Amino acid sequence: MSKSICLGVIGGGQLGSLLCSAAKKLKVKSVVLSDDKDGPAQHFCDEFIYSKYDDNAKVREFISKVDVVTYEFENIPVEFLNFIQKEKKVLPSPKINKIAQNRKLEKTFVNELGINTTDWVFIKSAEDIKKNQHLLPGILKSNTLGYDGKGQFILNSLDDVKQDWCFTNDYILEKKVDLKKEISVVIARYADGTMISYEPIENVHKNQILYKSKIPADISDKIFKNAINNAKKIAENFSYIGILTIEYFITKKDELLVNELAPRFHNSGHLTIEAFNISQFENHVRAVCSLKSKPIEKISNAEMYNILGFEIHNYKKKTFKKNEFFHDYLKKEPREGRKMGHLTILKD
Ligand code: ADP
Ligand code: MG
Repeated sequence: MSKSICLGVIGGGQLGSLLCSAAKKLKVKSVVLSDDKDGPAQHFCDEFIYSKYDDNAKVREFISKVDVVTYEFENIPVEFLNFIQKEKKVLPSPKINKIAQNRKLEKTFVNELGINTTDWVFIKSAEDIKKNQHLLPGILKSNTLGYDGKGQFILNSLDDVKQDWCFTNDYILEKKVDLKKEISVVIARYADGTMISYEPIENVHKNQILYKSKIPADISDKIFKNAINNAKKIAENFSYIGILTIEYFITKKDELLVNELAPRFHNSGHLTIEAFNISQFENHVRAVCSLKSKPIEKISNAEMYNILGFEIHNYKKKTFKKNEFFHDYLKKEPREGRKMGHLTILKD
């Protein structure tokens, strides 16, 4: 009998948890390395190793146990991934990680492929903002380490630039676009070049945090095709392996702009767990573990709602209909705005 594959997962949050559940279904063993002692993935994986990235002994233990390593979020120091890569394959390649965790590199890469983003500039000082007033009203975003709107400041005019800002970090300034809607494309690419794209997903944010996702997205055929074609172009260009997500803006003038890339499965793709025969998580496990790809089939239209903070208490008590699927991330403590679970509703 052949030995089962063992997948190493860096990060113990809800994305890691959902990935481990998909691995289990495929009889792939999962070992999670988490720098959070309470990481909820401990309830879903086969083995949980709590370790800081600089704890050599623990990290070596993790490396020795797994066949291939993947990660649940892009903000992992690239040097750390490169260190692991010396021993075990890291997929998706740390090369894309470096780009996706840096807004300047990310937008430059996308623009060089001939794909549009919002107008933007790199900012190192208040003076740089003054020189680029044409981008106001705009959004100042920290160049690295942002998520769920963290590290972002809306600048309506130069008056919003405070005198005491010291710009110890790098930023980008992006023109604020008149959004008609936001969509995402989740695509899997396998080592043999096979690409499998889910249909575009329509996303609604509240306070810059994803509130709701749904399929089908209410978009034109042209945007539907372009959104998938751009995603394929980006994945192909990277010789990408695993799930890649492209977040898009659609402006009131019907322009399609790339907002950002996530070199991973994505919150908006959670509805693929029930709405398709093969979820984004299963496709990721298959691709990074060199399992065979399988065509995807849509089972149903769907809506997904994130459950934030203390809302989770109500859901834990609720009973659900046959077409409603509640996922509890089993996080130890609810906090305001924290993603605690999600609900997917199949629509037909
Ligand atoms: P994060 O890395 O925190 O996800 P994003 O750049 O995706 O940051 O921004 C989060 C959300 O804020 C977007 O999904 C969108 O709703 C809103 N937003 C960000 N940039 C712009 C912009 N230039 N114009 C209008 N809305 C924006
Ligand atoms: Mg985003």
